[in-house]
Amino acid sequence: RKSVVRITTGSQALDELLGGGIETLCITEAFGEFRSGKTQLAHTLCVSTQLPIHMHGGNGKVAYIDTEGTFRPERIVPIAERFGMDANAVLDNIIYARAYTYEHQYNLLLGLAAKMAEEPFRLLIVDSVIALFRVDFSGRGELAERQQKLAQMLSRLTKIAEEFNVAVYITNQVIADPGGGMFITDPKKPAGGHVLAHAATIRLMLRKGKGEQRVCKIFDAPNLPEGEAVFQVTSGGIMD
Ligand code: ADP
Ligand code: MG
Repeated sequence: RKSVVRITTGSQALDELLGGGIETLCITEAFGEFRSGKTQLAHTLCVSTQLPIHMHGGNGKVAYIDTEGTFRPERIVPIAERFGMDANAVLDNIIYARAYTYEHQYNLLLGLAAKMAEEPFRLLIVDSVIALFRVDFSGRGELAERQQKLAQMLSRLTKIAEEFNVAVYITNQVIADPGGGMFITDPKKPAGGHVLAHAATIRLMLRKGKGEQRVCKIFDAPNLPEGEAVFQVTSGGIMD
């Protein structure tokens, strides 16, 4: 049986909320409005995953599937320096691919699984997991097919997490909640419906606070402690 590895987010408060960091062997989802810090957390994890285990890293390589074109290698440099690592070495250990359709995204996963069988990876990022599905299946009558293909993609991600002891970090968008319940206090919810809710082990709801502050809450997990973590987005990545 493989043992779980917890990878630091760069923020002690956020790590504590997560019980030590983001975990291998499962999927962690972050959703939240534009600029809530989902992609910046991805960039920080690209670096922290490469830290040795005793520094709360994963001592492994990173695979990054980018569907929105928002990965910035130059952002990795100050984050690596903040952790006292060599930026070029860190960049060399990030396998990056841009996906242009949901099928392309799926095929990239197949290729990455082959790579992971040969080299020690500890993190797979898909930022965002759903954007291409929302473009490729935009018609009203296509929702059932979209959800079926999304389920296929997520099941592949779960398989990768378990087979290679990798942490899977995916980002998601928020959509307006059309449900008309009178007790709805937040009219936004994560996209992807039950399929995504079922696949993600931990769902993080991010929102903007004052200035560079961001707030993270664990979403819809009655078995986990309630509470929020406040962190900052800085040039050196996610911090307290
Ligand atoms: P999301 O992916 O949720 O849309 P991002 O992770 O891209 O959001 O967050 C964007 C925000 O991150 C920016 O609005 C800014 O506040 C912050 N940010 C990005 N780069 C830097 C930086 N170099 N220094 C400080 N803050 C930054
Ligand atoms: Mg983003």
